[in-house]
Amino acid sequence: MPPSDPDCLVIGAGPAGLAAAHALVNTGVGSILVVDRDETPGGLPQYCRHLGFGWGYTHRLETGPAFTRRLLGAIQHPSLRLLARTTATAIRPGPAVDLLGPECGVITLHPRAVIVATGIRERPRAARLVPGSRPERGVMTTGQLQQMVARGVPVPGRRLAVVGTEHVAFSVLLTARHAGQRVVAMVEPDERVASYAALAAIVRHAARIPIHVGTRVVNILGGRQVEGIEIDGPSGPARIPCDSVVFSGDFIPDSVLAQASGIAIDPRTRGPVVDQHGRTDMPGVFAAGNVLRAVESSGFSAIEGARVGTCVAAYLGGSATAWCAASRPVEAAPDFDYVVPQRWTTDDGRLPAIPFSLRVRTTGAPIPIAVKIGDRVVWSDAARRRRPHRRIGIPQGPIARAAGDATCIEVCTTL
Ligand SMILES: Cc1cc2nc3c(=O)[nH]c(=O)nc-3n(C[C@H](O)[C@H](O)[C@H](O)COP(=O)(O)OP(=O)(O)OC[C@H]3O[C@@H](n4cnc5c(N)ncnc54)[C@H](O)[C@@H]3O)c2cc1C
Repeated sequence: MPPSDPDCLVIGAGPAGLAAAHALVNTGVGSILVVDRDETPGGLPQYCRHLGFGWGYTHRLETGPAFTRRLLGAIQHPSLRLLARTTATAIRPGPAVDLLGPECGVITLHPRAVIVATGIRERPRAARLVPGSRPERGVMTTGQLQQMVARGVPVPGRRLAVVGTEHVAFSVLLTARHAGQRVVAMVEPDERVASYAALAAIVRHAARIPIHVGTRVVNILGGRQVEGIEIDGPSGPARIPCDSVVFSGDFIPDSVLAQASGIAIDPRTRGPVVDQHGRTDMPGVFAAGNVLRAVESSGFSAIEGARVGTCVAAYLGGSATAWCAASRPVEAAPDFDYVVPQRWTTDDGRLPAIPFSLRVRTTGAPIPIAVKIGDRVVWSDAARRRRPHRRIGIPQGPIARAAGDATCIEVCTTL
């Protein structure tokens, strides 16, 4: 049966969308529709069989599929309908949303609120300007590898090279084991491993996998199938024989839908601009999870989704009336890569706020952080070395208390 207009339409059934749906169910919202374009709901974690998902939200360390089952189990309720294989193709003011899928056909719904939770995607090899031949088999992203392994699709050969060293790159090692593959090298263009030094030490010394830092892939070798990669770094050029090469990290928000729908996009995050309650600049449309910025963990995304779900319930109940127009900008100095949320609304102190995510662009000299409202420093943190792949948290209390008179909230590197 085609769906009728719900109170809230959630687009994307990953951790953020499912946790938002759970909050909507818990707060008694009358009708909720969750759609996902994938064959099955669950987002990225459903394809990652290794441990490490949900921490922060469930206080358990589970595999991706176990975390997905837990999220799906929590939303079984008569007020909620879940449609997989259903893509949202446009959001218009109203809000009105166009959906396309085998169960609903082509349909326009008029929900009272929308939550955009469309997650992230990895940039493929072509977008990373890696030279060399274009083998038909063996060049993939982490997400593609995870999906192949989860769906039982054979991964070519037995030797795998990984490009990138952020947290997700290390999950390839576990996935490779499931697939009967051996990781023969990790290659990192930056001078340092992006993930934890302890993790890198275990991989180097216990697993005996070489990690080449300050090194670029300058060529991919092979015809039909990858035969190796050529790298260039501090030890000079070298050739690593391998059967597959996995490009890891380099995530960007999957904000195509939001962008094409005219929702304001932050050029720094490439995701929708939101206030601390997840409100975009289109009335009735909220956003949560990694679509806001690449990339936070599944537990963090679920917490964010749950908070935004609670705010949507308040909006539907009429207790949250202001929209983003009534908010002030949160501006981060150029030393930072981005800050989320990008706006702060002062009138909804009772509603939960999404946690701040602040990141630096590169590892440089130690910097202090100060949050200024007018000439007043309302929060600061001593100078220390910041790493691009680590989230810098900012407490919301001091901002909430002082934001009343502000025209702008500044995140600076000077006290
Ligand atoms: C390889 C890999 C390993 C990882 N390892 C870990 C780990 O060990 N621990 C951890 O905590 N996190 C890990 N992560 C990160 C984790 O997967 C994300 O933090 C989490 O999935 C983000 O949740 P989300 O709901 O924001 O987005 P996603 O999980 O990406 O879900 C977004 C959903 O939106 C759907 N969608 C997109 N566009 C549309 C549309 N137009 N219409 C309908 N549906 C749409 C997609 O199909 C998808 O299901 C890993 C990620 C990757 C890629």
